[in-house]
Amino acid sequence: MKIFYSSLQKKHVIKKEVYNGKAHPYNDKVGRIDSILKAFKQVGHYEIIVPEILPYDALTTVHDEDYLHFLESSQNLKNDEIICPYVFPCDSRIPRHEPFIPKRAGYYCFDAGTSLMNNTWNAAVASASAAYSAALHTKKTGEATYALCRPPGHHASKNMFGGYCYLNNAAIIAKYLSKSGSVMIVDFDYHHGNGTQSIFYDSSEVFYFSIHAHPLVEYPYFTGFETEIGIDDGVSYNLNVPLMPLSSPNEYFKALLNGINKAFKAMEPDYLILSAGFDIEAGDPIGHFNISIADFQKLGREFRKLNKKTIILQEGGYLVSELGTNVESFLNGFQA
Ligand SMILES: [Zn+2]
Repeated sequence: MKIFYSSLQKKHVIKKEVYNGKAHPYNDKVGRIDSILKAFKQVGHYEIIVPEILPYDALTTVHDEDYLHFLESSQNLKNDEIICPYVFPCDSRIPRHEPFIPKRAGYYCFDAGTSLMNNTWNAAVASASAAYSAALHTKKTGEATYALCRPPGHHASKNMFGGYCYLNNAAIIAKYLSKSGSVMIVDFDYHHGNGTQSIFYDSSEVFYFSIHAHPLVEYPYFTGFETEIGIDDGVSYNLNVPLMPLSSPNEYFKALLNGINKAFKAMEPDYLILSAGFDIEAGDPIGHFNISIADFQKLGREFRKLNKKTIILQEGGYLVSELGTNVESFLNGFQA
């Protein structure tokens, strides 16, 4: 299987995040990339391809241009400057003023846990480029591909960053692939992909199915409920399956396969995009679904059985010591 990844993605380095008023180590560590690359190297048969930078137009199919300009302006930050938004203009009645780094950075952000630095833009574009090159390859050859997307993407909306995400990699390639066939995104990250859902919520262009920890108790708290089924043309093109933390692997697989059945009844896709979040792994610092290395192999096999042109995108997964072996186990199962 071909792997798409650029070392530019390592240039985004944030050390701390704010959680509940306290500083914690940032979960989206550069070591996540190292862990995955090390596992591929140990196995030996993965071909790593450096993606070309994607066309700017591919970004504007999903994201507002003013938001992109704002993200791009983070390149002007000083070398050691980290911007963590902490004021958010949630009241829609107040007049909006031009976003500005750092004081009004909250204009385009929905949480206080995600920061900007001068390499954030280049790393996010490189991550989206990995996804885009993977999609081009799958479209051309029909072969499944994996993009080592870091920063991840599924929390980013058309004009908001958060949840360690800046550009929505899955949505960007879904828009591209939808020109040549029907597209379904299956998001199995531990957290609901609020960004992806919002981008396609009023449209039948792409089917979005997410299985995730219940928003009653887990991030992002405000979306991911079963009642969110889409609006306007998007009604019945959005499917959320929230599970309480510590659901057993058996319960997890049962819910996943039921969800896939339901989604495939609504739409038989030509292309399947997996928002593959490995924070469902046992021992993840921010996920609690207890999926083991053997379960990941089984999960890969289940997706393979669907027999669709598949692009696998890295989303979460924060247990750095195990992440690589879990990703490889999943890809191994997918190829078996
Ligand atoms: Zn996650």
